[in-house]
Amino acid sequence: MTMRYLLTETQNQIRESARRIADEKVKPVRAEYDEKGIFPWDIIKHLSDANLYGSYIPKEYGGLGEGIFSAALITEQLGRACGGIALAYSANAFATTPIILFGSDEQKNKYLPEIASGKKIAAFAITEKQAGSDVSAIKSTAIQDGDHYVLNGVKQWIINAGEAEVYVVVFITDVERKARSATAFIVDKDTPGFTFGPKDNKMGIRASTTRSLIFQDCRIHQDQMLGKVGQGFRVAMKAFDFASRPGMSAQALGIAQGALDEAVAYAQQRIQFAQKISSFQAIQIMLADMAAQIEASRLLLYHLCRLIDGGEQNVTKLASMCKVLCSDIAMKATTDAVQIFGGYGYMKEFPVEKMMRDAKVTQIYDGTNQIQRLVIATEMTKEFARQK
Ligand SMILES: Cc1cc2nc3c(=O)[nH]c(=O)nc-3n(C[C@H](O)[C@H](O)[C@H](O)COP(=O)(O)OP(=O)(O)OC[C@H]3O[C@@H](n4cnc5c(N)ncnc54)[C@H](O)[C@@H]3O)c2cc1C
Repeated sequence: MTMRYLLTETQNQIRESARRIADEKVKPVRAEYDEKGIFPWDIIKHLSDANLYGSYIPKEYGGLGEGIFSAALITEQLGRACGGIALAYSANAFATTPIILFGSDEQKNKYLPEIASGKKIAAFAITEKQAGSDVSAIKSTAIQDGDHYVLNGVKQWIINAGEAEVYVVVFITDVERKARSATAFIVDKDTPGFTFGPKDNKMGIRASTTRSLIFQDCRIHQDQMLGKVGQGFRVAMKAFDFASRPGMSAQALGIAQGALDEAVAYAQQRIQFAQKISSFQAIQIMLADMAAQIEASRLLLYHLCRLIDGGEQNVTKLASMCKVLCSDIAMKATTDAVQIFGGYGYMKEFPVEKMMRDAKVTQIYDGTNQIQRLVIATEMTKEFARQK
């Protein structure tokens, strides 16, 4: 056990290995990958070679069995260097967690070892054109035909789409019962009738890929169903609480820390009025606020991860709080970092403009921060009712 955030020896090693990869492999390529929208296959290989890629996957399926905390530590470190590359890694844990939680033994044996080794990556899809915050409005269908299901519809803005081999996708199985029939399926990339839209051209996180998933009379065996008919939203909500909200929080936290590191270093060397700008109180206050808010976010994230890995089932409120706090702070810290850099912060030679672009989406996806606040309020109301 180390004193630093009370990480175990293994967690500390995981953090340090990820930090090395971020500093030595990610930082040199981040500007180019952002500019050209290059998917970071080489970084995934480095993570696999360091035995980090499947750290959260149980040992019996080839992972380290180190839980979601390990994935958060890795994502945070990658995020310090590049939010897009951190997301390409982290979205994989978001998509794999439903298989860990709801998969049959056959599904776990089929998918988890190859994901743990980095041979395959995964993606999770629920969003459609008309169904963003209101996921209950999904229309894509999986209609039973004997021992198969026939998939039709389009999912949009799916992280890792086109690069991933394994897709966890939520469909409705009954157009009359609509959302009540929502059901998750695992779809393999090479299934006939399953194709992709063009790569989306995004403001930030450009080293991660998003595309549409297009299903046209795509037939899959019923064994590909994940969980049971009608459990689709339960699968999705567990994936949000136990993997994606911690993951997106870690990504946002990493971006914020990266911006603070850059701002502190720059403030020490930029001279105006014959002084380092770090000697001006206006700059010191911005740096102090960033540091305090980042520290508070980190402690909440680590607490959430410890609860999840310790088996706590109801983490919905905390996961939403964490996502709101980390992403709002990422946006504020990156905006302040650009301010501290002045005009240089607005230029692409310095990494802070990219950090600011990368931070914005963390307030939008995985449930917008407005929706997260509604979730927090709803959970508080439920707690209040239980206490009465
Ligand atoms: C880069 C990127 C990657 C993504 N990756 C994935 C992925 O891998 N898989 C996936 O399934 N989805 C993914 N998404 C979708 C993402 O989760 C949605 O964009 C998000 O949930 C918001 O939906 P929307 O964009 O349709 O916004 P809308 O729901 O249309 O919201 C528009 C605005 O209205 C507000 N609003 C909506 N409803 C309410 C309400 N009830 N109360 C108050 N305010 C409200 C929102 O907060 C927002 O400000 C991704 C999105 C992006 C941009």
